[in-house]
Amino acid sequence: MNALTDATHHPALRSWVPSANLPGCDFPVQNLPLGRFRPRAAEGRELPPWRAGIAIGDQVLDLALARQQCPWPEDVYSLLDLLAQGDLAAFLASGRPAWRRLRAALSAALAEGSEQGPFLELCLHPQSAVEMALPLAPRDYTDFYAGIHHAMTVGRLMRPDNPLLPNYKWVPIGYHGRASSVGLGGSVRRPRGQVKSTAEAPPTYAPCRRLDYELELGLWVGVGNELGQPVPMARAEDHLYGVSLLNDWSARDMQAWEYQPLGPFLAKSFATSVSPWLVSLDALAPFRRPVQRPADDPEPLPYLDSAFNRAHGGIDITLEVWLQTAAMRQAGQAAVRLSQSNALDAYWTPAQLLAHHSSNGCNLATGDLLGTGTLSGSAPGQGGSLLELSLGGKQAIDLPGGQTRTFLEDGDTVVLRAYCEAPGAVRIGLGEVSGTVLPVLDPV
Ligand code: CA
Repeated sequence: MNALTDATHHPALRSWVPSANLPGCDFPVQNLPLGRFRPRAAEGRELPPWRAGIAIGDQVLDLALARQQCPWPEDVYSLLDLLAQGDLAAFLASGRPAWRRLRAALSAALAEGSEQGPFLELCLHPQSAVEMALPLAPRDYTDFYAGIHHAMTVGRLMRPDNPLLPNYKWVPIGYHGRASSVGLGGSVRRPRGQVKSTAEAPPTYAPCRRLDYELELGLWVGVGNELGQPVPMARAEDHLYGVSLLNDWSARDMQAWEYQPLGPFLAKSFATSVSPWLVSLDALAPFRRPVQRPADDPEPLPYLDSAFNRAHGGIDITLEVWLQTAAMRQAGQAAVRLSQSNALDAYWTPAQLLAHHSSNGCNLATGDLLGTGTLSGSAPGQGGSLLELSLGGKQAIDLPGGQTRTFLEDGDTVVLRAYCEAPGAVRIGLGEVSGTVLPVLDPV
């Protein structure tokens, strides 16, 4: 526990929802992530509308029903009203005091011994009986490159003598991504594009042969800013609601040919997958850490620096990638873990990414999505992409049953998972995002 935590993070707090108290649960009462869901409809029945919900244990609390069925403190009704139509945008736009007030109210209501328990018991759905939607439809998506070990390893593959470009430790590198192809995963279609078989050969239009994933965090903007009005570091976190997992699917062969001089384009825009639950920065309070930079690195420019960021800007989130091939699935073999890394390895914090994005006056809006960039560790087994783990496709990775991989094959399922642990705090998780590669489609 630290200066940022409050009663909602107390390690002794337990829920009357029994599954929320099980060890290893991603969604204890200390987490309370927000998402959109609807009960699965029986065959031939009309689909119910999307609703706002809170994950608690293996259940979802239906917030529209909870608004109707349960007594609340007087000031909480207006917050629940913002969510009653199943749209998270108005609530995210309402700002941190509102986010904190609802978190406190939900924490009290879902805690063991709450008088609201008997009412709210009737507002739960098993997570296994609902389907999830994107928490918000992002209007804009930006992908950064804040994972310095990823930048080093990928840079070394391309420029062995000069892996890190001179701007890296001064300016958060990013590019404007494609919002229309952001989804929840499930399945991802192998793209087709311009690829080259050798450096000398002319390109052909063909299925991607070096399909990859990237392990990232997605940062979700809560409160926007006016065009022309930068967000200072001191207020950057007031604009960020929270985080999810993000898989930046990448076509390496297309990327290698197209990226010069303007950066990624079609190698990235065919799919980006996020996990469905928004874990608030408030829930992450026990896992905030100081930012540590090597002593001989440049200090951040003043517009990217703040005392709060130095003391608490990092977030200790363990990140994992798991893979199950089609053959493993058929043989009944469980997914294997390909890598484990930590969000503390990012060179730039979420606040710095947001402050930098707005620093030229660019306006961010509620629901905008910022990817952190691939979050790899410095050790060989900590690469957050196959490009890193296979050293650019030169070293195959061994899998159960004698299979190997350099890049993804059709039928492969990639699962990203994340969780936070700290002494004196209850573990929370981000859940997961999963995607299975489908074969390429012919143009029609
Ligand atoms: Ca990326």
